[in-house]
Amino acid sequence: MGAEPNITGVTRGGTAWVPQFAVALDEGKCIGCGRCFKVCPRDVLTIVQRAVDDVDFDDDDDDDDDSDNSFMTLTNPMDCIGCEACSRVCPKACFSHAALPLAA
Ligand code: SF4
Ligand code: SF4
Repeated sequence: MGAEPNITGVTRGGTAWVPQFAVALDEGKCIGCGRCFKVCPRDVLTIVQRAVDDVDFDDDDDDDDDSDNSFMTLTNPMDCIGCEACSRVCPKACFSHAALPLAA
C-alpha cells in the first residue's frame, strides 16, 4: 500500500493546491513581534511571556527586536489551514511548514 495522499485544496478557479501547514515554530528565534498573530486567519497562535530568568534586561545588541520578553507558540495547530501567511510576515523565519496526509 502507498503513502496516504496529502491534504489537497482547490482554488475558486478549480486549480488544486497543497496546503503547507505550520508544523513547528522556533520559539528561541522568535522576537514576539506579533506579526504572525495579526495575519493568521485561524485561532492557531498564542503569544506568551518568557520566564523572568530568560529575559535579557540588558538588551544592548541594537537588533530590531520588538519584544524580547515574549514569544509566539503554536497552541492550536490542528486548526491551521496551511496558508503560510505567518511565514510571509515573520522577520525571523521561525515557522516550519509541511504538507500532511489527512490523518496526521
Ligand atoms: S499557515 Fe496560515 S492558518 Fe496556519 S498558522 Fe500560519 S497563518 Fe495561521
Ligand atoms: S512573526 Fe515570527 S518573530 Fe514575530 S511573533 Fe511571529 S513567529 Fe515570532
